[in-house]
Amino acid sequence: MKSDKAFCKYDKKYIRENLSFFAELAAKPAYICRKCARASSQKNTLCRPVKLDKIEVS
Ligand SMILES: [Zn+2]
Repeated sequence: MKSDKAFCKYDKKYIRENLSFFAELAAKPAYICRKCARASSQKNTLCRPVKLDKIEVS
């Protein structure tokens, strides 16, 4: 499958059909989307990626 589209933008049906792919990306997140708060191991799957280790957690 293509992974050049931000997965923030996939529709519900697509996500349901490819859940294992999304689960794999979300299992070890390195990035979080600051627009929709989704997490992923791959930067290009998020529309506004921010590296998790750059974010201060209080
Ligand atoms: Zn997003």
